[in-house]
Amino acid sequence: SRIVRRFGTSSAAEEVISPSVQVSYTKLLIDGNFVDAASGKTFPTLDPRTGEVIAHVAEGDAEDINRAVKAARKAFDEGPWPKMTAYERSRVMLRFADLVEKHSEELAALESWDNGKTYEQALTAEIPMVARLFRYYAGWADKIHGLTVPADGNYHVQTLHEPIGVAGQIIPWNFPLLMFAWKVGPALACGNTIVLKTAEQTPLTAFYVGKLFLEAGLPPGVLNIVSGFGATAGASLASHMDVDKLAFTGSTDTGKVILGLAANSNLKPVTLELGGKSPFIVFEDADIDKAVELAHFALFFNQGQCCCAGSRTYVHEKVYDEFVEKAKARALKRVVGDPFKKGIEQGPQVDSKQFEKVMKYIRSGVESNATLECGGGQVGDRGYFIQPTVFSNVKDDMLIAQDEIFGPVQSILKFSDVDEVIKRANDTRYGLAAGVFTKSLDTANRVSRALKAGTVWVNCFDVFDAAIPFGGYKMSGNGREKGIYSLNNYLQVKAVVTPLNNPAWI
Ligand code: NAD
Repeated sequence: SRIVRRFGTSSAAEEVISPSVQVSYTKLLIDGNFVDAASGKTFPTLDPRTGEVIAHVAEGDAEDINRAVKAARKAFDEGPWPKMTAYERSRVMLRFADLVEKHSEELAALESWDNGKTYEQALTAEIPMVARLFRYYAGWADKIHGLTVPADGNYHVQTLHEPIGVAGQIIPWNFPLLMFAWKVGPALACGNTIVLKTAEQTPLTAFYVGKLFLEAGLPPGVLNIVSGFGATAGASLASHMDVDKLAFTGSTDTGKVILGLAANSNLKPVTLELGGKSPFIVFEDADIDKAVELAHFALFFNQGQCCCAGSRTYVHEKVYDEFVEKAKARALKRVVGDPFKKGIEQGPQVDSKQFEKVMKYIRSGVESNATLECGGGQVGDRGYFIQPTVFSNVKDDMLIAQDEIFGPVQSILKFSDVDEVIKRANDTRYGLAAGVFTKSLDTANRVSRALKAGTVWVNCFDVFDAAIPFGGYKMSGNGREKGIYSLNNYLQVKAVVTPLNNPAWI
């Protein structure tokens, strides 16, 4: 189906900055072809600004996952992808990155339309990061190799680093294309084939880049993309007997289900990127204005829908009142509105379910006697826009300090010394990320080593480079994505042992 939609008309006051965009790809990508679901079923994907239907996309189910896995298996076993030279593989990935850049305006517009994030953010931050990530992993493709291992006795021992096979990948809706890139980039560089399931809220951009991959010369069956729901398509992929590895990003609760499905089928190895409740710690010597701005960014970026959001803002008692006053003033200045308009900082939450969830947590904050400094309500009367909300006097045992809210709600807590804040920051089931704000190198070193988190940002936040590994301690997941670390997720190590009957140097 081809649906054309233009985003309003420009007026001086409400200038629309996106290009017109059309939804051209709404079918499953299996074995190099866009096809209907076997059942013929479709489901709507909605515009979070209004709740209106953008397009109907194919609803993949167990049978479609079967078809996709079959195609990926054939592409792996018969090639050419795993058998191509690594250099040729890297060239396909580089061509793809060029095409992503060439189509960045359409991709950013589709991403913004489907998800609600600002067009500017998608265009200037996320799409460039997608291209960068594929170039980074294209660079790795021909640098993956094993070792020669010294072993007791007269043996020549080498390790071969081989692709695992068919990778199943399940992604969320908060950064649809970036999550696609984190998963697909390393898997392809290592020579695997893929079945990827998109999030039901945001299926559109993955199909678009699926088409770009075919254009870049990726052989049919190497990358298969299935849209559909978690309990049906997702569960079929996680429990499939012919999927050799699974990578998942989403909620901790779903992560547990996925691990169970993998364990009860073929014991496929699973990497998990799950939820978080990341502390953002401001010491008394920090530059307060900078810390306020970064704490605001750390929480409100992407409508607060970040797994690593700095969602527990711990501030030293000596600067607490000043910080709260300034954090409130900054939140009141935050510009909420249509993500396609210039100067907008915050669009709608992704859907009504997330909207209701966030509003429930705001009510819980008020009921538990945290101080509502600002916000707390809906913006406008349609779509899923929420006022930037700040709570002060938050206590560790309140629900808003314990659960992942995944929305524009900042919780500010008070602390009085380093030992105390380390203990409180670590007293959570999560361990994804943390921020530390101080001018003291000693404090920064001590706290960053003491925190149980996969990433610690010191005097910065949300720095995401393709080379920097990302992942969680504790119930925030296992394994790391990005950087050199992600390659291990997609490689098997084989030791080849050969007797040396006449070693030359003895
Ligand atoms: P979710 O777990 O409900 O969904 C994520 C994906 O899993 C979707 O594709 C969904 O269809 C699929 N899924 C759901 N149930 C499934 C099942 N039974 N079997 C197989 N697949 C299933 O999460 P969500 O609410 O859509 O996303 C928000 C959550 O994701 C937040 O908790 C956030 O912290 C987390 N997240 C984590 C990271 C990270 O890198 N750690 C990144 C983004 C989002």
